[in-house]
Amino acid sequence: MARRKYQQEIRAVRRSNALAGIYSAKKATYGYIKGTDKKRTPVIDEEVAPIVRRIFEMYASGISPKNIADILNAEGIASPGKYAYEKLGHKGRPNEMRIWGEVSIRHMLNNIMYIGHLPMLQGTTVSYKNHHRQAKDKSEWVITYNNHEPIISQELWDKVQERQRHMAQGRKTKTGYVHPLSGFLVCADCGSKMKMCAHFSKAKNEYSFYFNCGNHLRYGKTLCFSHYIPAKVLEEIVLDNIKEMAQRIVLDEEAIREEFLRHNAELAETAIKTAKKELQAKRKRTEELSRLMQIAYEDRLKGKMPEDICLGFIQKYSEEQKRLEGEIEELESKLTETENTMQSADEFIRNIKKYLEAPKLTREMCYELIDRIVIGGLPKVTGKEREIDIVYKVDIASVLRYKFRK
Ligand SMILES: [Zn+2]
Repeated sequence: MARRKYQQEIRAVRRSNALAGIYSAKKATYGYIKGTDKKRTPVIDEEVAPIVRRIFEMYASGISPKNIADILNAEGIASPGKYAYEKLGHKGRPNEMRIWGEVSIRHMLNNIMYIGHLPMLQGTTVSYKNHHRQAKDKSEWVITYNNHEPIISQELWDKVQERQRHMAQGRKTKTGYVHPLSGFLVCADCGSKMKMCAHFSKAKNEYSFYFNCGNHLRYGKTLCFSHYIPAKVLEEIVLDNIKEMAQRIVLDEEAIREEFLRHNAELAETAIKTAKKELQAKRKRTEELSRLMQIAYEDRLKGKMPEDICLGFIQKYSEEQKRLEGEIEELESKLTETENTMQSADEFIRNIKKYLEAPKLTREMCYELIDRIVIGGLPKVTGKEREIDIVYKVDIASVLRYKFRK
């Protein structure tokens, strides 16, 4: 009986702590450490916050949680459990949590801690005999909004949420099947999404699936003409194309990678060169201004220059300096952009190589590699060869144009 009372008291304390926005978790969420203030406001752990950001970015760029875990493990990055044990001195059995797992990545991608909100009381000890924590309904959460510094920008968070929705949606058939290409197909003539439909063949006694322009299906010929294509045919085209790309890359990986990087570097280099030149000119100018300032100041002291002119110089000088700072920032972001492109090229190459011998097209595969597929009209309508453009996430061999005749 006494024990029960104690449990109730603890629960009451927890609840009032939550309402006051006090961070009372035993272990801080990965990426944060508990603050030393009264509310123990989470503080960003700069050592691992970049990993959190990278996980969100990888997912947003189309890499599955399973593959994210594989990448982190391959790179030897300590899992949250291991990190807490080794670096932060938490108790635990590191053997059991040495590696990254898909589930914890999914969990991270949905943790609002990372955008600065503090969720509390999601779990509670239901019984003093049974210490399993039970997830509470979301309505029972006490959330302190904008409680601490976010690790993830709202923009990136939204992107991740959007992709999760996209993954969950797709178009499901009665059996719950989501076609691998669902959501990737766009009509070349009206820009509408292509929709999947099922057709029952009495002769074969089976369903077959096909895609067609969403506008055409909904509004008929008034908005767009038929872009009918059997799902099987399209699957084959896409799978063959992915394999062909993989083959080309494997045969000449270094050359392709270099070519891609060179192309990007060239573009970046021109931009950087121009910026650098401008910077140099600006620096020279500010140096000159400094000198003029000095002269003006001396002249002012000697009574040779009126005060307002002297102040005018100071204003001009500081404005110029601000502009210069802005340009330095711009230059720096251009440099990181180039670095990111290199990273994404490597990721893309690593991803596509996995599918060299892929027996069939999967949804994960499409997510990792493909941005969209543009479906052209049938020859009998357009009067020319049918065009199917597979636009890859990374423009590695430029956009491959796949033409085929029906
Ligand atoms: Zn259309």
